[in-house]
Amino acid sequence: MTFSWYRPAKQPRRVAVLSVHTSPLEQPGTGDAGGMNVYISQTAVEMARRGVAVEVFTRATSSEQPPVVELAPGVLVRHIAAGPFEPLERHELPAQLCAFTSGVLRTEAFHEPGYYDLIHSHYWLSGQVGWLARDRWGVPLVHTAHTLAKVKNAALAEGDTPEPRTRVIGEEQVVAEADRLVVNTDVETDQLVGLYGADRDAVSTVSPGVDLDRFRPGSQAAARRALGLPPDAVVLAFVGRIQPLKAPDVLLAAVARLIERDPTLRERLVVLVAGGPSGTGMELPHALRDLAGSLGIAELTRFVPPQSGDNLVNVYRAADIVAVPSYNESFGLVALEAQACGTPVVAAEVGGLPVAVDHGVSGLLVPSHRAQDWADALRRAALDRSAHAEFAKGALEHASGFSWQRTTDALLAAYSEATSAFRTAALEVAV
Ligand code: UDP
Repeated sequence: MTFSWYRPAKQPRRVAVLSVHTSPLEQPGTGDAGGMNVYISQTAVEMARRGVAVEVFTRATSSEQPPVVELAPGVLVRHIAAGPFEPLERHELPAQLCAFTSGVLRTEAFHEPGYYDLIHSHYWLSGQVGWLARDRWGVPLVHTAHTLAKVKNAALAEGDTPEPRTRVIGEEQVVAEADRLVVNTDVETDQLVGLYGADRDAVSTVSPGVDLDRFRPGSQAAARRALGLPPDAVVLAFVGRIQPLKAPDVLLAAVARLIERDPTLRERLVVLVAGGPSGTGMELPHALRDLAGSLGIAELTRFVPPQSGDNLVNVYRAADIVAVPSYNESFGLVALEAQACGTPVVAAEVGGLPVAVDHGVSGLLVPSHRAQDWADALRRAALDRSAHAEFAKGALEHASGFSWQRTTDALLAAYSEATSAFRTAALEVAV
């Protein structure tokens, strides 16, 4: 029996956000820290501005981390001791989930009952913790997968290591247990329904956002000066975690192809790579430098370490084009940030990137990872200056449709749906 008179739930007073494997306090752009960290911190800050307190639980990776850190007013990060005080490989983390869950439950037990109104877990490892906490506390579990093993495995870079079966099973369990699933795009809804048997009605599509105050157009000359880049070069940038899945090698191969066709470009092109190794990219941290050498473009390729958000603005402004050649990307925050700075994006036509990039308006989508196709797209978007100017206008316009405020409004709506569904289900059991 369902109760049609049931009122929609009010916004929660306090949300427990679970982020087992990476902390919103970490610098994104290397290791396990990337878009998810940005997503969690930005939406937490916006939630807090709306009066929703947020407490993020993450695994302590150093004994020097205080148990609780205030990330912003109304947002706490709680470091939970679970396993050694050092970073662990992702495949080692399932063994620490019991300890982590225990730490989360103990924290809650120090408060009056009903301290948290809702749990939002990020990535499947956190979903495993959230599902138990949900049952203990009697509050809804909202889950965001961020990436899905079955999707990743279907689009692996050549020679890359597939995600293990334990993760696939773990994800299936979380999809079955969560009260609401939040996805970045409708493509991901189809993947959850088709590959994981999710109930379509229990999925909310929430577009990620971009910090439009930070990422905005500015002087290209000043940005290039700050980075020590020549003022008159054509700069093609890659920003993000360096790993086979992100395919920065495709950009290098395309640049080599452009120069092969037109050797005069060697004097003008600069490839700027911002970020550090991650995932299977950790095994061969010099692979990209080696590739630049073997392609004969080492002298025009510049590597910069992971940059703070404020410095990253210079990278986007300095670039003529930001390339996102990933094999899979559930959204691609980098694409949005670049466009918000007025820089067009050339991206692979995969996952959420067709939402993040408006093909033919804010940049180009490339349907393959072939160097020739990428060289053609880069030539059109970067070297044809009138096309570039049009794309730059389109990029700004497209990015202006996204913001973390909008994301947070949509998340709160998803929370409200989760709470209503959870209470209705609880009443059904009681009747
Ligand atoms: N990032 C950063 N510094 C860097 C490189 C990347 O802060 O040097 C941030 C970037 O601003 C973006 C995030 O890392 O917000 C990457 O998110 P994206 O969705 O593009 O990729 P993901 O890491 O989630 O795979």
